Amino acid sequence: MKEPTLVLIKPDGLVKSLTGNILTRLSETKLEIVAAKMVSVSDELAREHYKHLKDKPFYDELIKYIKGELHARRKVLAMIYYGEGAIEKVRQLAGATNPEEADSISIRGQYGRITTSGVYENAIHASTNLKEAKREIKLWFKPDEIIVDLYPAKTISHEVREKEWA
Ligand code: UDP
Ligand code: MG
Repeated sequence: MKEPTLVLIKPDGLVKSLTGNILTRLSETKLEIVAAKMVSVSDELAREHYKHLKDKPFYDELIKYIKGELHARRKVLAMIYYGEGAIEKVRQLAGATNPEEADSISIRGQYGRITTSGVYENAIHASTNLKEAKREIKLWFKPDEIIVDLYPAKTISHEVREKEWA
């Protein structure tokens, strides 16, 4: 069964110009990218994404980190990889959460570091299981931004206010 997983290139990955290297590593998986966009991460999105960690001592720093406040680069690259075993394949390539414990040839092992304030800057986020992938994908993407149908969606009509090219 094909499954999706959310991948984020975090602000440290972008600042260090690691996007190309990370995408090249991820291409080893032969998974398909079915959505991709740059996101300027709001406080609300950051807190919702990491809500399971809100009682941790590093939570406030983590929120600053994902919002890009530690890197003067307020954006992340959000993508959905899709295919057989996608979640495990991407987690494997990403490596352990702690970059010092991560396999040295994993993405986090190669590019991660621990900051002086103790946050693991590990360049990439990857969903850990199907339930988390679903929650995270629905948080970061709208159905129309994904080129395959992942979850049930409904069409609603409402008055839209959006920018168009002048
Ligand atoms: N994190 C941290 N210190 C910790 C645990 C986690 O700074 O002791 C950060 C790290 O950037 C990690 C993120 O919080 O990627 C989310 O933590 P989680 O436990 O979900 O790890 P992940 O799923 O990213 O491997
Ligand atoms: Mg996690």
